[in-house]
Amino acid sequence: MSVTQQQVLKALAGVKSPDGVALTDANVLSAVTVNDGKVFFSINVDAAQARAWESVRAATEAAVRAIPGVTTAMIALTAERKPGSPSAAPAPHRHSHGVQPVSAHRPPQSPASPMSKQSEIPGIAAVIAVASGKGGVGKSTTALNLALGLRDLGLRVGLLDADIYGPSVPRLTGIHEKPQLDDNRKMIPIQRFGLAIMSIGFLVEEETAMIWRGPMVMSAITQMLRDVAWGTLDILVVDMPPGTGDAQLTLAQNVPLRGAVIISTPQDLSLIDARRGLAMFKKVNVPVLGIVENMSYFQCPECGTRSDIFGHGGARLEAERLGVPFLGEIPLHMSIRATSDSGTPVVDSEPDGPHAAIYRAIGAKVRDQLQGVIAAA
Ligand code: ADP
Repeated sequence: MSVTQQQVLKALAGVKSPDGVALTDANVLSAVTVNDGKVFFSINVDAAQARAWESVRAATEAAVRAIPGVTTAMIALTAERKPGSPSAAPAPHRHSHGVQPVSAHRPPQSPASPMSKQSEIPGIAAVIAVASGKGGVGKSTTALNLALGLRDLGLRVGLLDADIYGPSVPRLTGIHEKPQLDDNRKMIPIQRFGLAIMSIGFLVEEETAMIWRGPMVMSAITQMLRDVAWGTLDILVVDMPPGTGDAQLTLAQNVPLRGAVIISTPQDLSLIDARRGLAMFKKVNVPVLGIVENMSYFQCPECGTRSDIFGHGGARLEAERLGVPFLGEIPLHMSIRATSDSGTPVVDSEPDGPHAAIYRAIGAKVRDQLQGVIAAA
């Protein structure tokens, strides 16, 4: 029997707000989405009360999960700072379920600040972001193949598809199954290609993910980071949503990132976007591990001849100018596109080919920069 919205609302009526009011009467609920046993909604509260609401969020999630037929319950607590409320409003991100203020821009924290320590994920030595200033530059393709390149170097690697606006990891990996829950009710990432993989696309249809609003996105990503049984990993690669807006900034502030890899194509426009990405990570004190130039040159699949159709080399020059490492050039090649789109990533399906070697070399440059952190863990 499929779960109905009515059933969910009935369960919510039994949960009380910190003031003892039934949740359904507290004027805090977003629209409740129920889809094939999966339930999503957010509880929107004043940031000043966010701490008090965290236990309500947990109780709500438990109540929803207890409804027969519910397979997934993703309940986000979103905190909005009301005009004129005290400036100390946002509750610091602590453990399981983060509370992110919509508009609050925390001052930059040093990498050693207590805030960054608080957010470490047990079992994971280093979380790194793969980011791009805009969509369509091959960020997700690069994130997956970089993860596989790191795997080939003997590291334990996970991949989190945080590109909540358009998760492409299900397509790139061919994974279409839903994660199971373990005894602690944490989601078990899907194991494929020797990677632990998690994507919002495993839980919701792409169209559903597309309409999520900023604060809810943040909460969902936090849950995917922290409510997943990642196990022991040397590196977790996070495929970030494209762009450098508020959502990305907040994410970069709240996820304990050890570094970021920026993907750019050689064209001027995407370089300008990449520069924004660099500036954003700088703002939150996340070290930029380097820039990758994707679709750097065209390699004819027939004759192997190389043409620099996009004015190759722009990202290398930009990296030099900005004083960040240049990690490598990936050609625009049919087999990268074809393997990506058929769920058989090139590093895995053509391990002895030239492209796998490029991704491994990029992986080695990333690994070298994280060596200390990985060894310490
Ligand atoms: P993004 O995550 O930046 O939106 P994707 O990784 O989804 O980009 O890639 C967009 C498209 O470009 C996909 O069809 C992918 O197969 C293709 N693509 C990415 N990198 C390359 C490449 N180096 N050569 C050929 N096609 C590529």
